[in-house]
Amino acid sequence: MTPPVDRESAAARTQALRAEIERHNRMYYALDAPEISDAAYDALSRELRELEAAWPDLAVSDSPTQKVGQAPSAQFAPVAHAVRMYSLDNAMGLDELDAWLGRVREAVGYRACEFVCELKIDGSSLALTYEDGALLRAATRGDGRTGENITVNVRQVADVPTHLDEAARPAAHDVQGSLFDIAAWPATEVRGEIYMPKASFERLNAEQEASGGSAFANPRNAAAGSVRQKDPQVTASRDLATFMYAIAEPRALGLARQSEVLEWLRRAGFHVNPDVIVCADGPSVHEFCASAIKRRESLPYEIDGVVVKVDSLALQDELGYTSKAPRWAIAFKFPPEEKTTVLREIRVQVGRTGNLTPLAEFDPVTVAGSTIARATLHNIDEIGRKDVRVGDTIIVRKAGDVIPEVLGPILSLRPKGAEIWRMPTACPSCGEPVWREEREVATRCVNAGCPAQRLERLAHWAGRGSLDIDGMGYEIITRLVDTGALHDVSDFYALDEQDLAALDMGRVKQDGAPVALGPIVAAKLTASIDASRRRSLARVFFGLGIRHVGSTVAEALAAEFGSIDALAEAASISPLAAGGGVTLAAALASDPIARVEGVGPKIAESVRAFFGNAENRALIERLRERGVVLAEEKRAPARPQTLAGLTFVLTGALEAYSRDAAGAALKELGAKVSGSVSKKTSFVVAGDDAGSKLAKALELGVSVLDEEALVSMLDTGHAPGFVAATSDPDE
Ligand code: AMP
Ligand code: ZN
Repeated sequence: MTPPVDRESAAARTQALRAEIERHNRMYYALDAPEISDAAYDALSRELRELEAAWPDLAVSDSPTQKVGQAPSAQFAPVAHAVRMYSLDNAMGLDELDAWLGRVREAVGYRACEFVCELKIDGSSLALTYEDGALLRAATRGDGRTGENITVNVRQVADVPTHLDEAARPAAHDVQGSLFDIAAWPATEVRGEIYMPKASFERLNAEQEASGGSAFANPRNAAAGSVRQKDPQVTASRDLATFMYAIAEPRALGLARQSEVLEWLRRAGFHVNPDVIVCADGPSVHEFCASAIKRRESLPYEIDGVVVKVDSLALQDELGYTSKAPRWAIAFKFPPEEKTTVLREIRVQVGRTGNLTPLAEFDPVTVAGSTIARATLHNIDEIGRKDVRVGDTIIVRKAGDVIPEVLGPILSLRPKGAEIWRMPTACPSCGEPVWREEREVATRCVNAGCPAQRLERLAHWAGRGSLDIDGMGYEIITRLVDTGALHDVSDFYALDEQDLAALDMGRVKQDGAPVALGPIVAAKLTASIDASRRRSLARVFFGLGIRHVGSTVAEALAAEFGSIDALAEAASISPLAAGGGVTLAAALASDPIARVEGVGPKIAESVRAFFGNAENRALIERLRERGVVLAEEKRAPARPQTLAGLTFVLTGALEAYSRDAAGAALKELGAKVSGSVSKKTSFVVAGDDAGSKLAKALELGVSVLDEEALVSMLDTGHAPGFVAATSDPDE
């Protein structure tokens, strides 16, 4: 994208990029569940770096461009790295690699400078500390300063030596300050990569699938997930291996070059990747990179690039580090892996708001370590741009990560008679005609009774961020719709416990008898349905699935109007239209919905459309009759306000709650929930991933709760080890 020309849009863009990058960092480093490709991630970081370079006053010290990875999770004990673990700068392509080689040569004043080329192993960073020659501790990289203590797990990894080999013990004269003939082992920290071989990864995923577990997206996530197990026996059962390539303080061992480091590691008993060369010039570096790309596929483990390092440690010292990465090394990243396959079908999915999304179904292919068979094509414009047709041989990609993408067809292989794909004119679910609004890319089914939309709407209402009907998932909803018990969301509140218990799940037992839901589940469901009657107004607004009303807008509307009737009333006022002598400001001022902070005319219009519909109004009446609380003030605090005066900050992903749901539950007990950590924060609740907010909390000495503590606090209503209430944290 072209860089913004004015400061204001540059500022907005940097902010958006930072938030997005932080989010992906969390997904990647802490959850081991990346959502976008490495290439896409790199593109985001790159754009941000460029913006920060172009607008230096927009650069901030806590920008993700200044950080390495993520803060560790609360699950493992933190390990402070005595010598920081850096990330690597990337070179995307040979031009950038040459630019880096040139910069290094210039920086060392064109003295002789050798480079070591190593494969960039696609696993997880590992630091091993040996004391007196014995393995003392293993840690992850974490955010580079603090990692996680994973010693018990790493002890299960077969190729990690528990003792350094005597052959590597330095002679006394090699060790600085040694007074003895035979030197004691200096404390040694060895670094490298822990990974899962491709074959083991395939096996593991097959097993996971067979046992109903979830498959890992790629070997890297499998490795990262396997060393971060609560139970070391699980780690032991995973076939992990290591390649070590660095020593935190090589001088202590009398080493002067990276190539000597690798040699020493080998002698000490570590696995060191054999695919290494020392190059004196650029062309040999290029050659190594080119051959690595060719050999990539046939290697038994995943690699995602080549790491080029200055060989001389003295020159490395001269070159030093940026805030994030050494200047003496660069990661030459491979172009994302692409595969060809055949497009068999373009299937159309209908979403909650009636959007029709075309989905490419193709012959399964293994790309970057995992098998893919479908990818979204987003919308009809996208299909037109790419000109993909059923029967085409298509190029798909998945750059070592999660979201598969169709790049386009190979036209020379297009079968005769392949036709341009068209959006169906009728909804695949309900058969009603579909519409494409002017200036919108989406095609929509506008039939409110459309079964696919209805299913999505019901599931949305029951979902965690909405009314949170615990246990009410797609399967049960589908059965209830099929049996005619559920038409719209008000029907949840007319379900009968006995009928639920008898609900036919559409499956049969081994003896041929039909499976029913059963009394235990039915009782639980009835209780959760009942609990959902008293959720906050914001959740009701969100749960209704009004177009463009997300959870933030829903909260703003609930805070402003306080009841569904007040919002309906506001929606019945037709505001002035801008134009014809009416200014935009006057039009906005006359619109009680649009003028709410964060709402605006487009959302207001959609709220008016919702309440303008008689069926929706009837639905609201049914909800009211069936005991759903539709006003904030009527909702006397269901529970004593035992957390009043306390301020919580939620960070990371929780297992049992969405962050919205956890925040709502805390607020129900009178707590405040804030977005940023300050000295006045009472508690930080850190989910499994815990980002920079956790780091901030630790820095400020704010108490940190894990999910277990959160759950028990919400149960009992009492904060652990009461902390004095303080005033506004958001100053
Ligand atoms: P990045 O995660 O993109 O910042 O890349 C840096 C990471 O690459 C390091 O933290 C290492 O975990 C990893 N890596 C894999 N192979 C090597 C290697 N041969 N030399 C240095 N780093 C490597
Ligand atoms: Zn439809």
